[in-house]
Amino acid sequence: MINIALDGPSGSGKSTIAKILAKKLNIAYLDTGAMYRTIGLGAIKYGADTKSEAEVIAVLPKIDFKVGFEADGQHVYLDGEDVSGLIRTPQADMASSNVSRYEAVRTYLVEMQRNIARNVDMVLDGRDIGTVVLPDANYKFFLTASPEIRAKRRFDERKDKNPDLKFEDVLREVNERDYQDSNRAISPLRQAEDAVLIDTGDMTIDEVAQTIISFIKEK
Ligand code: C5P
Repeated sequence: MINIALDGPSGSGKSTIAKILAKKLNIAYLDTGAMYRTIGLGAIKYGADTKSEAEVIAVLPKIDFKVGFEADGQHVYLDGEDVSGLIRTPQADMASSNVSRYEAVRTYLVEMQRNIARNVDMVLDGRDIGTVVLPDANYKFFLTASPEIRAKRRFDERKDKNPDLKFEDVLREVNERDYQDSNRAISPLRQAEDAVLIDTGDMTIDEVAQTIISFIKEK
């Protein structure tokens, strides 16, 4: 059994690296951020203010959320609709970070993640994989980079679809989300004691993937 926990702040390169690892090691990939994003989108759909725990908890039972695995990877569904593209917006960025603070949401998704990963060779990326979801994962990595570099990556990723996007706004949002994710009461973003720290700032994607694969082969 291989379980790889890949944690870190937004824009640290987790999902790109996770996809490469999954392919090279021929294992499955679970993007747990997509799950929080779908719940955030669902809460908005049912009229909740995502900053209100009571409002989010009240609509949680209405949200029909499913994860599916297709030939091209993971898809997320809200009330039967494939929202895998819709979850990648600034609105969903903040909504996911807001709803991820609530215990009811975390308990629900962590249990789902553990069930999906059970008995499957898999790389999971998120914020709390090595600390909470799979504390016994055999490989744990914590990716990081400066807020400016991470914001630049996110900006480059999204500017084609949104020509009015401003770098300063992306940077502000990255800092806001980092602060909220790192300072929440339940399962804050932090490096597991036994995780390998990798600063991806000056590295190419291939270098990061190669570093991780070398660690796995050596261990
Ligand atoms: O990784 P991604 O940026 O897609 O995650 C969206 C949000 O979901 C994060 O800002 C974080 O608040 C939350 N999240 C979390 N725990 C995870 C994955 C994501 O709290 N395991």
